[in-house]
Amino acid sequence: MPLVPMRVLLDHAAENGYGLAAFNVNNMEQIQAIMEAAEETESPVIVQASRGARKYTNDAYLRHLMLAAVELHPKIPIAMHQDHGNSPKTCFSAMEQGFTSVMMDGSLLEDGKTPSSYEYNVRVTREVVQAAHAKGVTVEGELGCLGGVEDGHGAGLSGEEARKHLTDPAQAEQFVADTGVDALAVAIGTSHGAYKFKRKPTGEVLVMSVIEEIHKRLPNTHLVMHGSSSVPEELLDVIRMYGGYIKETYGVPIEEIQRGIKHGVRKINVDTDNRLAMTGAIRKVFACQPTEFDPRMYLGPARESMKKVCVERMVAFGQAGNAGKIKPKTCQEMVFFYEELPQKAAPQKAK
Ligand SMILES: [Zn+2]
Repeated sequence: MPLVPMRVLLDHAAENGYGLAAFNVNNMEQIQAIMEAAEETESPVIVQASRGARKYTNDAYLRHLMLAAVELHPKIPIAMHQDHGNSPKTCFSAMEQGFTSVMMDGSLLEDGKTPSSYEYNVRVTREVVQAAHAKGVTVEGELGCLGGVEDGHGAGLSGEEARKHLTDPAQAEQFVADTGVDALAVAIGTSHGAYKFKRKPTGEVLVMSVIEEIHKRLPNTHLVMHGSSSVPEELLDVIRMYGGYIKETYGVPIEEIQRGIKHGVRKINVDTDNRLAMTGAIRKVFACQPTEFDPRMYLGPARESMKKVCVERMVAFGQAGNAGKIKPKTCQEMVFFYEELPQKAAPQKAK
């Protein structure tokens, strides 16, 4: 089957009460790791590429690697998603490359750093929704700012400083009405990268209650958790054991993600855990077999190690076993779907 719009996967996940991991990719081994994990667990798949990944791979390599995944895994529904589009232009170029889903992150200005105004966010997101839905492509928006990388405030904010950046549930309701997005990324205290929390997170720093409140107001909007690697101790141990250095750090516990899935979270972004798994495996080969210089001998174990993480997440989030149960739709079919949903297909014209 061709790449499917992400909305098809999210709708199925919502109807059946599970979540989907969205794994980031930059090269062939990562795509293979995800696809082998999906094949083994019969999971539908969301593969995502950041702007940095598209630059690193060059769009053409990435596009052809994804076509290979589709060709080799005809029974697995796969969505290809632009992670953190910084402008409508980035989203439109992703659509030209065949991405079936785009994130317009208007919570930040085009520099990807400066928090924007609500009005700016609505304007750019609505522009992308109108163009994307006309082609049957799914759109994820973001409201509120993640900690860490996104606003430069560092991970594990506490008290008022953290709260200021969280998604406001009432505004979330307004934002979805104003833009017509299919999915909404929410800020609940997580951040990108390995250094999320200085200790095992409590409700003070990982504010899952915000998700519950947003889900009550927006039961039909798919919620997205960014920065949701769990940063397991055993992956850090391997890196440390073979000469790497990682400070003490904590991620988002799997049980908190599962709690989110009970309250409308359908897409969970996982990148750091896969990076840690690959790096540990490569370090181990370099340390234990110092004479080895065939890249296959360390990229192979790295791929295997990432696959293991993907399998674990697919099972934990509940997407395992669902690949064959999804009735795939093409982007063209989604165009008709949006036309029948007037409030989604035609959000109010920009003033
Ligand atoms: Zn993110």
